[in-house]
Amino acid sequence: MRIDVPRPLQAFARIFFDAGFCCYFVGGAVRDSLLGRKAADWDAATDARPEDVLKLFRKVIPTGIQHGTVSVRWQDALIETTTFRIDGHYADGRRPTSVQFSDDLAADLSRRDFTVNGMAVDPRSGQLIDLFGGLADLKAGIIRAIGDPLARFGEDGLRPLRAIRFATRFHFTIDPATLAAIPRCLDSFRQVALERVREEFSRTLLCDQPSHGLQLLEQSGLLGEFLPELCLGRGLAQGDYHAFDVFEHSLLAVDAAPLDLTLRLAALLHDIGKPASFSRDQAGVIHFYGHEQISATLASSVLRRLKYPNHVVEAVAHLVRHHMFDYSPDWSDAALRRFVAKVGLASLPTLLQLRLADASGLRGVKADPRPLLAMLDRVEALVAADNAFTVKDLAIDGHVLSCLGWPKGPAMGRVLQELLELVLDDPTMNTVERLSLVAEKLKSKHGVDQA
Ligand code: ATP
Ligand code: MG
Repeated sequence: MRIDVPRPLQAFARIFFDAGFCCYFVGGAVRDSLLGRKAADWDAATDARPEDVLKLFRKVIPTGIQHGTVSVRWQDALIETTTFRIDGHYADGRRPTSVQFSDDLAADLSRRDFTVNGMAVDPRSGQLIDLFGGLADLKAGIIRAIGDPLARFGEDGLRPLRAIRFATRFHFTIDPATLAAIPRCLDSFRQVALERVREEFSRTLLCDQPSHGLQLLEQSGLLGEFLPELCLGRGLAQGDYHAFDVFEHSLLAVDAAPLDLTLRLAALLHDIGKPASFSRDQAGVIHFYGHEQISATLASSVLRRLKYPNHVVEAVAHLVRHHMFDYSPDWSDAALRRFVAKVGLASLPTLLQLRLADASGLRGVKADPRPLLAMLDRVEALVAADNAFTVKDLAIDGHVLSCLGWPKGPAMGRVLQELLELVLDDPTMNTVERLSLVAEKLKSKHGVDQA
């Protein structure tokens, strides 16, 4: 089997060979080329030491020099170049069958996580170097640990999560022995920094069908380790309108959500407060009163625990808090303006997408987007007509109010809010004259001395 190594990368490798070193491309790029996908990054492995690489190239960034990795700026690309690592275990007695590589390359490949990630290509000939049956696994669609999965997962507890991420990304299965090792290695998973867990998890959520990975995470016990709140939805019935339990419904909602991390997280967590808000009335009807608020609070704490940045936590919580609305064309313009004022104009499109994903997750059938698109059109018309949605859009501001004799302070904020309420109801009120008159009348109510 041969792989077409792009010419610039062949030229890159030649510099190593000309200087008496060797250089192979390894890992993801080899796998992706064999899958017929465009390889994102070509990672190189070499027997040259980082200090040798620094001498061979003009532009080298010492990204992870203590691990033997430097990034070489080569034409338009940055090529991660790693010195063969000899710390890994030797590949259980297996020896290369061809002669185009050194033992060091074999050792380097054997320390890699999965057979499909453990292949290399010789850039001079394009020859594939496949010591662990990676090509066969790629063809069969299998993620399989290199060597003994228990030992490999014991060395690095992140690998189980990576196995699931790759299975999700390529719609692969996980080899039974590899899968069976996951629940037995939860101790080493617990040692992994949450930032690394978060990265793998996010990447799984950004696959085209994350439910595949989420099922695997649940079945293997991993989800229970880092997101036990979500597991509580398993088996939680939802009443007549829902075909699925809360867990399955959340997974379908994630699949239906657009490829955006905030939206995917919001879809996953939008009902996470349902187990805590479950009740059944005397007629036997199931309710989840206030679940969106509980879900928003829980979603924040889950995401903070997983070290998501604040802006992600806040955006997700906001979407979750407001995900329950039932737009219908008979909403008045005033009702629509109030809704936009509550959720914020900027988050409206995302919120509508979450609503659609949620609706699609009810029965696993894509929801009709037209009613919500019509809602968006109406909002756009209101924006075009210069309707106010926030205090900032009002014809008067704090400065005008203080000219009218309002002291700076909380009362001013309250009156602006009150004026906004009026304007949301009736946009024709939004003029300096009219709002000034109203503000004057409101003075006594807010304990401000009349002029
Ligand atoms: P992606 O396209 O997602 O980046 P990749 O295969 O390039 O896929 P990386 O995380 O960039 O994945 O890692 C590059 C290579 O390094 C992998 O293909 C694998 O050979 C090896 N590798 C990465 N992480 C580990 C790990 N935790 N244990 C063992 N080998 C690993
Ligand atoms: Mg990569």
